[in-house]
Amino acid sequence: MADFKSSLFGDHSFLEFTLQDNTIEGCPAMTIDNNVRVELWDNGILYFHPQDDLALNSILLSVGVHGNETAPIEIIDQLVREIFSGKIPVKHNLLVVIANPKAIAKNCRQCDENMNRLFSQDSMPNSNSSDECLRCHRLMIHSQIFFQRAKAQKIHYDLHTAIRGSVYKQFAISPNSIASPATEYQYELLGQWGIQAILSTQQKSSTYSAFTARVCGATSFTLELGQVKPFGENNVDEFASIISGLTALISDTRDLTMLPSIVERFSVVGEVAKQTESFRLCFSEDTVNFTEFQKGDILAIDHNYQYVVSANGERILFPNENVAIGQRALVIVQSEDNIKASIL
Ligand SMILES: [Zn+2]
Repeated sequence: MADFKSSLFGDHSFLEFTLQDNTIEGCPAMTIDNNVRVELWDNGILYFHPQDDLALNSILLSVGVHGNETAPIEIIDQLVREIFSGKIPVKHNLLVVIANPKAIAKNCRQCDENMNRLFSQDSMPNSNSSDECLRCHRLMIHSQIFFQRAKAQKIHYDLHTAIRGSVYKQFAISPNSIASPATEYQYELLGQWGIQAILSTQQKSSTYSAFTARVCGATSFTLELGQVKPFGENNVDEFASIISGLTALISDTRDLTMLPSIVERFSVVGEVAKQTESFRLCFSEDTVNFTEFQKGDILAIDHNYQYVVSANGERILFPNENVAIGQRALVIVQSEDNIKASIL
């Protein structure tokens, strides 16, 4: 098997090369097995384009928006390795994005600010902008160019791991504004990949997946695949069904061993922002995502404010006291079955 990748990345893997913080001159390109053109659009941004098919889906796979969420970064590096070795044939347009290499190199969630709050066309970078803001601006441009070329379905998976444990170990967040056959198909597919819960949200958001859904018209998901661990400490077995699902998607094959599974559906019913330095969460630090509370429970207090659970069955998601003032510190979700029952 020809070692195609060496002409793009030398002796390094895509990840190792990306973490060297290279400035990419022009657009280095090559053709690999199965007549697939590969272009390095920017540091950490790799485009695969099969030359001989017209009705191609466009799939964006992004990782490392948060630099310490290592499992998805390792998964993508392995997938790219296997594409270059010829083990995974690429049958659709594919853009692979390592989003925040500087934070990954420093082994931290973010260098200056949370990149997943910056995907908004309102926040144009200037001379005082953070590294994350500058990088985010480039990611938005590359993502738009990628999806503008789409001839068929546009799909984006932004892969993360969460700070806390979760009642549902692997879950997805869907920012897509309307239910459509494409989103329903994706829900089914994600169930087969082992995703146990899907949270729909129509809240205005500046996450990467919300940006591609809103601006690029993609069917987009943030996938939370487990808990944050350092490089080398992830258990690959926990991600086996996600890896085989992504492989099947890229290579346009069907894994017939995968069975449909029931995916719990949730909706966002509220968000709590940190308004002052007095903000405190009222449950223990080891309370996991999707923990259920009862009507009357107090979940957060702030200066002159408290959040009180207004209906049985409300659950918490992404609690974080340590966000900047004004940012979201807690999401409240409710199962769609409960919401329907309360309306009837
Ligand atoms: Zn994350």
